[in-house]
Amino acid sequence: MAHIDAGKTTCAERVLFFTGRVRTPGEVHEGTAKLDHLPEEQRRGITITAAATTVSWTPGQGLFEGVPHRIQIIDTPGHIDFTIEVERSLRVLDGAVFVLDAGSGVECQSETVWRQAERHRVPRIAFINKTDKPGADVDMCVRELRERLGANPVQVLLPVDGGRVLLDVVRRVSIVFDRDDEGRTFRTEPIPEGERERVDQARARLIEACSEVDEQVLAGFCAGRDVASVDLERALRKGTLQGRLLVVLCGSALKNRGIQQLLDAVVAYLPSPEDLPPVEGTGQDGVEVVLRRPRDDEPLSALAFKTVSDKSAGFVTFLRVYSGILEAGQQVWVAPRGSRERVGRMFLLHADEREEIDVAHAGVIVAVTGLRKVRTGDTLCHPEHPVVLERIDAPEPVIEVAIEPRASRDRERLAEAMSKVLVEDPSIRVSTHQDTGQMILAGMGQLHLEIAVSRLLSEHKVEVTVGKPQVAYRETLGRHARAEYRHVRQSGGSGQFACVTLSVGPGERGKGVTFVDETTGGVVPREFVPGVEKGVRGAAARGVFAGYPVVDVEVRLEDGAFHSKDSSVQAFEIAGSLAFQRAAREAGAVLLEPMTLVEVTVPEEFTGAVVGDLSSRRGVVRGIATRSAAAVVTARAPLSSMFDWVSRLRGISSGRGTAVLKIDGHDLVPEALARSILERG
Ligand code: GDP
Repeated sequence: MAHIDAGKTTCAERVLFFTGRVRTPGEVHEGTAKLDHLPEEQRRGITITAAATTVSWTPGQGLFEGVPHRIQIIDTPGHIDFTIEVERSLRVLDGAVFVLDAGSGVECQSETVWRQAERHRVPRIAFINKTDKPGADVDMCVRELRERLGANPVQVLLPVDGGRVLLDVVRRVSIVFDRDDEGRTFRTEPIPEGERERVDQARARLIEACSEVDEQVLAGFCAGRDVASVDLERALRKGTLQGRLLVVLCGSALKNRGIQQLLDAVVAYLPSPEDLPPVEGTGQDGVEVVLRRPRDDEPLSALAFKTVSDKSAGFVTFLRVYSGILEAGQQVWVAPRGSRERVGRMFLLHADEREEIDVAHAGVIVAVTGLRKVRTGDTLCHPEHPVVLERIDAPEPVIEVAIEPRASRDRERLAEAMSKVLVEDPSIRVSTHQDTGQMILAGMGQLHLEIAVSRLLSEHKVEVTVGKPQVAYRETLGRHARAEYRHVRQSGGSGQFACVTLSVGPGERGKGVTFVDETTGGVVPREFVPGVEKGVRGAAARGVFAGYPVVDVEVRLEDGAFHSKDSSVQAFEIAGSLAFQRAAREAGAVLLEPMTLVEVTVPEEFTGAVVGDLSSRRGVVRGIATRSAAAVVTARAPLSSMFDWVSRLRGISSGRGTAVLKIDGHDLVPEALARSILERG
């Protein structure tokens, strides 16, 4: 995981090469990388979907020397628009390699993915890549790991001569890569005289860090003894698993340097499924806590974290098996849906090849066919031992476009193609505009939507026209208000009756709609309450004021009345929906807009121009720092004023500025502007 362009895909490609999965390493810039498999990815040179691949590696040294290991790799995209991919990968991965560009340090998006990994408590090691580049500065990177991320970095490799030689601090040897650009083989030699002091200093730091997590190392350290390399490795492993230190390696993926050492480190320091605590879920009732250990003799539990539609195989579902074993042809229980499905065939994936398997053991990631109804976030388990694992949250979309089929006869095909895109990417939402009837596609950024639209054409052969991108505004309420709605209909036979009183008001930011039933004495019988809630949620999703979804509101069902014959869930749904609309209108709308955090790097003479331009876009400058003779301006600005800002930056900085934007929550839209947006609808 890393910022875009740090070299994740190149690293992963080299891993395929060194583990014997491919004969020649693919190059991202030549469009032949094996892990970037969608045509869109190869054309644009970025990773959109996280591909899963399986390799095996036998470490040549260290704790697990000579023991073959299976490593499953998910190469995650760095671009902010594809944050769902990072989120779902981190959910099912046990460890992560945090890749940095040695010339750029900890970049903005690296920080975001680092925080995501912290949230999921994924143990990490760092690989400082591109040591061959002029301007590479490993010390700066290590400093930034400490200062920007609050990590406790411990260098185990030091580069010499652009990484042509790596000094192994743990074993005190130098690793010399033979041929300059092929570097596929290396030899070890004693540390050169001139580098001894540097290695000794790094080793002292390493021993100190290890002594904080391991008593044996501490004892040696206190007694002034040198510590054996296996003891250091054991301590580094412990510290990594506990998240108390960060092992830092370095090298150059492009020049094939440091990748074998990286693979050794993955095995030595990152956890195997058995090192982790049992996975926690709930029973079918949603209350009872159920634990599952990663063992074959436990009941099956597996999480679906990705679905792709494949021309020949139909839907292919990616599963992480947490406990028990899964067999091809087995019937499984899809816990949250309460339905049964049969697993078709199962595969381990090796970049673009598949290896069919009959049994998947606890800990493994597999691709399976035949699961038509399983969606991202669903748990598969044994019918007699149900368990529901935590779902994978899709982020709220921030930008939307209207799309229409070029030819009106394609309307149905568009809907069909769109439903496939939605299954694959839960961070895309589709709705229908309430006035124009156009299809509205909402997502995480311009690139995200552009790619979704171009896949409609390239994979589903549906041509569409696309409107101008708009910010996905959200409505919320300004005040508290209360309203009653009485739904009475008498038409021939049985009538409809439902009456509810709702109180509504602003809720916590980011919490969506919360609904509480506060009635007592059975004024609204329990079986009708879900109807009221459904009505409220439906009305909120459609929007009350200008068709933007209403979020962050608290709704209380305070009172109501029913009729013993004429009341039904449907009647209460209608009453709930209309009472909500009435109360919300009473409370008045407030508009929320997505905000962005911008980090701009420009030569210092352009700082003034950048700050001025950002201020004119309602941006608030948070800070200006200096990094290797360039200014780094950080600001927060509304997304609506930042469309196409990257090309504007090119203009004001004579093409020498770079910027990274990431979404940073929602803020209130200033009142006058909100009024004009609400009137426009
Ligand atoms: P990702 O976006 O993190 O997956 O990065 P890529 O692997 O696509 O690499 C981005 C660019 O950096 C490509 O043009 C690579 O050829 C280049 N690159 C990757 N690794 C290295 C390296 O070790 N040294 C140099 N000089 N360039 C590299």
